[in-house]
Amino acid sequence: MRKTKIICTLGPATEKTETLRQLIEKGADVFRLNMSHAKPGWVREIVPRIRRLADEVGRPVAILLDTQGPAIRTGDLKTDLHLQPGNILELTVRGAESEEKYSVDVNYEGLVDDVAVGDTLLVDNGMIRLVVLEKGAKRIRCKVMTLGTLGSRRHINLPGVHVNLPPLTEKDIADVTLGAELGVDLVGLSFVRKKSDLEELRRLLAGEKSKALIVGKIEDQSAVESIEDIIRASDAVMIARGDLGIECPMEELPIIQRRIVKMCLRLGKPVVVATHMLESMTTNPLPTRAEITDVANAVFEQADAIMLSDETTIGRYPVECVEILDRVALRIERSGGAGYAKSAILEDARQKTVASAVVLANSLGRAKIIVFTRHGTMARNVSNLRPEHAPIFAFTPSEEVRRQLSILWGVWPVRLEFTEDPNATIEAAEKFLRENRLSAPGDQLVIISDVRGGESLVDCVQLRTAK
Ligand code: PGA
Ligand code: MN
Repeated sequence: MRKTKIICTLGPATEKTETLRQLIEKGADVFRLNMSHAKPGWVREIVPRIRRLADEVGRPVAILLDTQGPAIRTGDLKTDLHLQPGNILELTVRGAESEEKYSVDVNYEGLVDDVAVGDTLLVDNGMIRLVVLEKGAKRIRCKVMTLGTLGSRRHINLPGVHVNLPPLTEKDIADVTLGAELGVDLVGLSFVRKKSDLEELRRLLAGEKSKALIVGKIEDQSAVESIEDIIRASDAVMIARGDLGIECPMEELPIIQRRIVKMCLRLGKPVVVATHMLESMTTNPLPTRAEITDVANAVFEQADAIMLSDETTIGRYPVECVEILDRVALRIERSGGAGYAKSAILEDARQKTVASAVVLANSLGRAKIIVFTRHGTMARNVSNLRPEHAPIFAFTPSEEVRRQLSILWGVWPVRLEFTEDPNATIEAAEKFLRENRLSAPGDQLVIISDVRGGESLVDCVQLRTAK
């Protein structure tokens, strides 16, 4: 049983029903819809289709709707611009005319105010580097520093520059509203800069009666500076290495990744390592040795999930990518993890109860943890402590919670109606594991549930032997 979860971003390479089915069968746990590219009509069509397929295959799959966020993009070009070092490229706003040979319009008018002469602008994943020479009312004259071809609608990164775009653009609000209507399980907030950005999204979701969990995407220096506040205000965190590796000096990236993983484990929040994990498999049938080692590192750090982007949106080998992640994760998990969960903060009595159950499970051979969870909190508490061997079977009466549990490290989510009598619920769970050969006679079952203590229900840990 693999503990590290797999997120696949969907796109033209994977949208066919047969491919989606294969991804689910090979072990995809979460499907991501990237709203920087996905159209509302496509989202409307694919969400119910994913739900049907997951039911058919019999595995829970969560859907993560990922917003575009305050991203700056170049506009449409009639022809690509072949830029050479030393060329002048003029960026214009609001369709201003340019006299220069090379110019492109930008979707954000405030850019002129946000940048200063001497600032570096990086276009198209950092491939084209520009330096600001001069600013006009509606134009920025830049010097091209690197050889490259500029196509239409490319992303612009401004390392260290504070961009005055709102945390949720009009497009983001429309996309999140659609996601709420379709009942997506998770919503990604791109380019989070501070805690209040997340609070704004939380208000929007609450207004739309959505229970979707919020994934704060760490993509730039401002997010790194407020990392603790952002982790606390998110339901889960994504280390968005694509943008982060451009916005920060790239040699800082492994350090930032490790710091964020550690802090998430300390604060009890799920964490996703994203982007370029198997990038070469976008075109090649096999990954590089360095990519395998990068995946292994994220698994060793015990991130909750690892994510595929181009590999599964436009790649030639999407299903093979999932197979490789599955193989590598299973092998590396057997070799042990970094153990950062040892410094997890146990804030309340329930977390302390769970911690005692995990200590118990770690001390036993052939242990399995069973946890009953209505809103997912108890399952998250268990997962966060990264039990050494025992799988975590999380039973919940809610289909939505069951899907949301898909992102958690080590958790095997099962839907089960809870009865009035907690003991009958435990027996039903044991029966489920037995019948599905998920437990064998003699297995040690560490059970975390509530039991009746007089008038009220109290949390309790029991040790039973599987029949
Ligand atoms: P994106 O986010 O794919 O939405 O840009 C991930 C990243 O930046 O790594
Ligand atoms: Mn990004």
